[in-house]
Amino acid sequence: SPSFHWDHSYRTLPQALWVDQAPETATNPRLVYWNRPLAEKLGLDSGPPDAAMLAGSRLPPGAAPLAQAYCGHQFGHFTQLGDGRALLLGEHLPPGGGRVDVQLKGSGQTPFSRRGDGKAALGPMLREVIFGEALQALGIPTTRGLCVVATGAPVYRETPLPGAVLTRIAASHIRVGTFEYAVRCEDRTVLPALQAYTRTRHDPEVPAGDVAAWLRRVCTRQAQLIAKWMSVGFVHGVMNTDNCHVGGETIDYGPCAFMDVYHPETVFSSIDHYGRYAYANQPQIAAWNLAQLASCLLPLIDDDEGAAIEAATAAVRGFAEVYQAAWLAVFRAKLGLAQAEDGDRALIEALLSRMARLRADFTRVFRGLADGSARAEFAEPEGFDAWAADWRTRLAREGATPEARSGALRAVNPALIPRNHRVAEAITAAEGGDFAPFHRLVEALARPFDAPAPEDEALTAAPAAHEVVRATFCGT
Ligand code: AMP
Ligand code: MG
Repeated sequence: SPSFHWDHSYRTLPQALWVDQAPETATNPRLVYWNRPLAEKLGLDSGPPDAAMLAGSRLPPGAAPLAQAYCGHQFGHFTQLGDGRALLLGEHLPPGGGRVDVQLKGSGQTPFSRRGDGKAALGPMLREVIFGEALQALGIPTTRGLCVVATGAPVYRETPLPGAVLTRIAASHIRVGTFEYAVRCEDRTVLPALQAYTRTRHDPEVPAGDVAAWLRRVCTRQAQLIAKWMSVGFVHGVMNTDNCHVGGETIDYGPCAFMDVYHPETVFSSIDHYGRYAYANQPQIAAWNLAQLASCLLPLIDDDEGAAIEAATAAVRGFAEVYQAAWLAVFRAKLGLAQAEDGDRALIEALLSRMARLRADFTRVFRGLADGSARAEFAEPEGFDAWAADWRTRLAREGATPEARSGALRAVNPALIPRNHRVAEAITAAEGGDFAPFHRLVEALARPFDAPAPEDEALTAAPAAHEVVRATFCGT
């Protein structure tokens, strides 16, 4: 079984932030997914694990499970949360350096479970693996699934579903919501301890005394992350403050999805009735989440409240600036533009608005720019032509050879994303006991920029009208 090299630095934090908690025992654990590339990267070179070990039944030696406390704004409303169905086993220190959290998700109830059963269904855990691996391969910071164990016991949602435990690897599990919890602790040492710990863990280069500089660092990282989501048409779906990772990783994949047809108002989550977390709202929501973090940090930024508010406000404003620049940079690259010109934003926006109006597939249009197939993605291809003329005029000023340009376009515009209908298909098959489509999808998603193998062509196709997935569910 994997040879974790444990450390337990989170336990050095005040006890208010965590509680000891043992996992529940799985009835009949069976390994259904083992992420070999990730295991290798982490130096866990001893082959696939004993299923019972990563279902919580028999812990890996040296693991010391705890549940983390946190709060969160869910759809704008403040709530007391915490790990209700997850346990931190400890931090693994990979031989190559660094520190990652190893967390079980779906391992049973904790003091933070509220009315929940502490369990996870197989489908959502496979979903988390699929999206984590997809984002990873697209170069987007994310937590990742190391392993999925089917527990052999049902979990009861609207219907009984097969249960599972996911082993999740993350740079940490410190959320904006962890700070929202800390600032409300009666013990005034909790907040500074958490901030010092988080800075040391994620941003050791930021001076310890400069909390405003650290907040700016967190804002910058989040801005870069959201720009990357936008560049691939990713909709997180539940950008609550408890799902906003201070280390800048994408975390807590629930009803997330990639857009097929481009539209800025795209929403998939069945619980997001007002479109709060729609595609185009994601930057504003991230800024709102960071404003919650900023307000938690005020007492640490400056003893003078006015000065603290000023520094915190400036940091959160910085988000918009970094985001705009990062967005422009990623979309310039998506158009094959290496140089910056004043009209570039307008050129990008003109393409996007045509795509929205003419119901064009986001991924296929951008990929199609490399090989001349973008035009065919538009309901009225003439609608693309006028824009394409402007684009060619602009490209002519770049001076790259057509071959170099096509190569550059293919390096940033993926052919393959986890299409909702393919994800649904893979999960449905797995729930019925056939894991082959799931494994094939995850394997293909590791190389999103390659020309797809003939047998993977179907994975890159846009959904037919009857295949379109309009809503996704938390499934918690
Ligand atoms: P999530 O939607 O996964 O981000 O979870 C939001 C909050 O609900 C977190 O505090 C979770 O720990 C908790 N939660 C979600 N599902 C369950 C469950 N089945 N049992 C207990 N707590 C849960
Ligand atoms: Mg969450």
